[in-house]
Amino acid sequence: MIPKGLTSVHFESAAKEIDRDGVPNERASVHYDLVLNGKKYPPKYVISIAAKYLDGEELSSDSFNAVEAKNYFVSRGYRVIDRREGKTERHIAIEDDESASPEGKERFRLHRLKERDAAFSKKAKVKRLRQTGALRCEVCKFSFLDVYGELGEGFIEAHHTVPISELDGKRKTQISELALVCSNCHRMLHREKPALSVGQLRKRVAEQSESNAIQEGGKPFANLRVCRL
Ligand SMILES: [Zn+2]
Ligand SMILES: [Zn+2]
Repeated sequence: MIPKGLTSVHFESAAKEIDRDGVPNERASVHYDLVLNGKKYPPKYVISIAAKYLDGEELSSDSFNAVEAKNYFVSRGYRVIDRREGKTERHIAIEDDESASPEGKERFRLHRLKERDAAFSKKAKVKRLRQTGALRCEVCKFSFLDVYGELGEGFIEAHHTVPISELDGKRKTQISELALVCSNCHRMLHREKPALSVGQLRKRVAEQSESNAIQEGGKPFANLRVCRL
């Protein structure tokens, strides 16, 4: 059985260990890849190792099966690829995936609270305006003013960049911890668990734009422009 109480913190630690030590041949995954921080891991092995960080003992591979491991991650909003079909399984039921897992709920609420602190995000916006003269998305450079005119003036969302797993309600938010992003990019940051960093998402947008351009024989970023209009 998969133990209760595993959180993204344990999976992160497992991923780090696997990055360092690799996957033993007999624990490689036949069908599924779990995507964590843009990298692929065998879901079952991640759970086995994560259990070690929870209660000190690696979970033996015969106490649960690959489908259970796959379902475990999918139901918690993680991305799992089924290699047989090149298909991605993802749980889409809840608007903010991060709030789907009970262990992440309270921290996710804190994350949102910090982002919605109007006085604070205003300070971040004023600072940015002073520095750059514009409020552009840090990921895709979208400007609400450019696209929506007066209606979009002064609008941008604040994303708190401290990992949700580190929030405990006591930490004081610093302005430098807020990234200013458009609403689409903000949603996409939270689609992976743990949330992607601004740099990681920017890289993905750039890669996607390049691959679209190659397929269409167009210029990189041509797509991005279309989607802004
Ligand atoms: Zn954006
Ligand atoms: Zn956010």
